[in-house]
Amino acid sequence: MTASESKGIKVAIVGGGVCGLTCAVALLRRGIHVEVFEAAAQFGEIGAGVGIGPNATRLLEHLGVLEEVLKETLEPGLTMGPFLFLSGMEGHEMLYEYPERDHGLGAHRPSFLNAMVKFVDPSITHFNKRCTSVAPSASNPGRTMIHFADGTTHEADVVIGADGIKSSVRPYVAGDDASRVIFSNTICYRGLIPMATVRAAGVTLDFSQSRTSILLGVDRHIVVFPVRGGNLVNVVAFHADHNAPLGSPQLPRDEWVKPVSQQELLDVYAGWGPEVTGLLNCIKTPSKWSIHMVYPPLESYVKGNVALIGDAAHGMLPHMGAGAGQGMEDGYILAQLLAHPQTSNTSLESVLRAYDRVRRPRAQMVWNGSYNTGKIYDGKGEHGLNADGVKQDIGTRWDDVWHHEVDDDVTLAVAWLKEISAC
Ligand SMILES: Cc1cc2nc3c(=O)[nH]c(=O)nc-3n(C[C@H](O)[C@H](O)[C@H](O)COP(=O)(O)OP(=O)(O)OC[C@H]3O[C@@H](n4cnc5c(N)ncnc54)[C@H](O)[C@@H]3O)c2cc1C
Repeated sequence: MTASESKGIKVAIVGGGVCGLTCAVALLRRGIHVEVFEAAAQFGEIGAGVGIGPNATRLLEHLGVLEEVLKETLEPGLTMGPFLFLSGMEGHEMLYEYPERDHGLGAHRPSFLNAMVKFVDPSITHFNKRCTSVAPSASNPGRTMIHFADGTTHEADVVIGADGIKSSVRPYVAGDDASRVIFSNTICYRGLIPMATVRAAGVTLDFSQSRTSILLGVDRHIVVFPVRGGNLVNVVAFHADHNAPLGSPQLPRDEWVKPVSQQELLDVYAGWGPEVTGLLNCIKTPSKWSIHMVYPPLESYVKGNVALIGDAAHGMLPHMGAGAGQGMEDGYILAQLLAHPQTSNTSLESVLRAYDRVRRPRAQMVWNGSYNTGKIYDGKGEHGLNADGVKQDIGTRWDDVWHHEVDDDVTLAVAWLKEISAC
């Protein structure tokens, strides 16, 4: 039995997406008792790509899972190179190449999740468990009760809400009735195309290289990168209304993601260059996402012994490709703090507050960065949509996101706990 197990801390994670599973793996690695409650009948991810920045890939390395992730995603290594910014219009002028010094990973989401699942003991996972609410336990002070849609409950010392943007745990932590989720006035069309299809369509831009190409235009941009070892091309085509006030209109939840016709997608990009038209022509059945985000930001990611991680805490626009990475940082840091030798059942609330202290400012920094980056992509940057302007506006804006060591945050949090004599 490890030191942590002997303390008898029992953790429950609500939601087994990328962030919930990263947290579960991090806790298991440190010998903490954890159970995962997932609403779906099995773990699963949408058929799309996800960019995992150098900050998050380092964390996977710390957890000892990177090798399996590379194997499962069919990636030859951390080869995802610089971002290339191109005009979306005819001629597709090269606007800027991001001066990257570290590499990340462009991963096929389901394969990435499959790799993480391998490190989670099936005996601690519970499917078809849709959380409806959490509340302090009536019979055991200090513990929290999770209520599920099937009428069952589960009690734990620490509850971690990793249940995504529509979180059912967030209302308890936020302490208000407002959902804190708004429509970002941005929609995107997603597609995953075989590389061979793209080539056969006569697209000449080389999307097979391990790098992300971002095609820019007014109020629209398209992100393209290869996954599955270059066999598939991940395409996300955005369209934003930058004039509408945030949160208007309010969309019914069942309309957040829906299949649309290819014609709708082609109409949105009418007038763009031939490479774009050729690429979008390959997406026969696009799905349309109305992107929502957590706003206004939460005043805290924790309440008592309940913590939020991932999109439940800070769902953001995806324009820096960093939302999942931030949620993975949440899960990793929270796990290290719960596993700290001086953490005990009596210090859990302070430990969660320490997590909030280090994570909230950083995640909000990335949230703000993602919001502003979207404006630059869509021609709303200060210096305009041309090579000089894009270079000035984009600059080195990923530096703070990518070149950050999560273990330093753990050290900071522990120092604070010592300062308040909680550890
Ligand atoms: C178009 C687009 C592109 C993106 N690209 C990137 C990128 O390149 N890089 C990046 O880092 N991020 C990217 N993101 C953001 C990233 O997808 C999210 O930040 C990340 O998936 C959030 O993970 P999560 O585990 O917090 O939530 P989710 O992935 O939403 O997982 C939540 C889990 O909880 C379960 N669940 C939900 N409700 C309940 C409930 N009530 N009870 C129990 N279980 C429940 C769900 O079934 C699911 O398994 C992108 C987002 C979008 C929309």
